[in-house]
Amino acid sequence: MNVAVIVAAGRGSRAASASTSMPKQYVKLLGKPVLARTLSVFLGHPKIHEVVVVIHPDDEDLYQDVIPSRHTKLRTPVHGGTTRQASVLRGLEAFECLSPEYVVIHDAARPFVTETVITQSLIAAEKTGGAIVALPVTDTLKRASADNTILATIDRSGLWRAATPQTFRFSSILAAHRAAAQSGQFGFTDDAGIAEADAQSVSLVMGDSSNIKITTPADFAFAERLASQNLQVRCGSGYDVHRFVEGDAVLLCGVSIPHSQRLDGHSDADVAMHALTDAILGAIGDGDIGQHFPPNDQQWKGARSDVFLRDAARRVANRGGVISNVDVTIICELPKIGPYRSKMQQHLADVLEIDIGRVSIKATTSEGLGFTGRCEGIAAMASATVLA
Ligand code: MG
Repeated sequence: MNVAVIVAAGRGSRAASASTSMPKQYVKLLGKPVLARTLSVFLGHPKIHEVVVVIHPDDEDLYQDVIPSRHTKLRTPVHGGTTRQASVLRGLEAFECLSPEYVVIHDAARPFVTETVITQSLIAAEKTGGAIVALPVTDTLKRASADNTILATIDRSGLWRAATPQTFRFSSILAAHRAAAQSGQFGFTDDAGIAEADAQSVSLVMGDSSNIKITTPADFAFAERLASQNLQVRCGSGYDVHRFVEGDAVLLCGVSIPHSQRLDGHSDADVAMHALTDAILGAIGDGDIGQHFPPNDQQWKGARSDVFLRDAARRVANRGGVISNVDVTIICELPKIGPYRSKMQQHLADVLEIDIGRVSIKATTSEGLGFTGRCEGIAAMASATVLA
């Protein structure tokens, strides 16, 4: 049995934008938090059987927002210590009762770790007892004085940059961590260093240059570019109709418009939001509104369509995607949409958590033709463009 310890207890908020002081591992990277991206790779790995995340005691709420709902491999998080070294030790101790064979230790701030690199580190560790992912140094190295004057050129041959995952025989790395703590050595910045100090053999596995550690705002911007590289432009369309019945207002895009009739439906009958929800679901190939919210299910009787639209947006975010733009066309003779258009746009932008400039609402009549022309109901069409 193999386990993974994900270290996410750091306070680093340097990487985040100025608008948030959230630790970087909880900041959304194209809609999906860094930690959630990292976790999904480990939870999906067939040779990793249990995962624990080491978090800062203040981050319980942030953590609960990020974790996938009740994943069987995921243990209750443990609270970290004041240093990375102390945090890893606590993560290891959480698994002591299981006596796993190997442990993969990984920094949450490296969300581009892949299944392949985890597998390679496990295979290498099985041979030598310990293996870390690293990259050979390719830049020429200089030693400089405090005033940035070069003192020497360092021979780079044989030099590597250590990253994570770092994989070890569990009992060996736990013993090495305890030995380091007991002897008062607290300055280690990675786990291989602790194994080396305990005279354990650790090998290197060639890493992947996209496995970056997000530390600074520049890293975050680069990470966004890396994350978007794997995204594709996807379009979806939606269409819906609701009939008029006796009433005094219609609800369109979450805005109530006084009218001599209302729209009939199981939920709030917001025909425009239903069409838009289907467009977003269509863009990610994730069924339709009726599949996720069956009209014969009593819990959705009278439900606000905000719930449906927010759910579709969450499904996009869960795939690490973003909504690029949405476009809604409402087809009716009456009521007049124009006076309510900007309020509708704002409502959709709020629910989808996108800029209002990415939300378009149009209205048209059908020149008195057909059921919309006879004022028997309202039809709505929508399209959505998603990067996912
Ligand atoms: Mg509908």
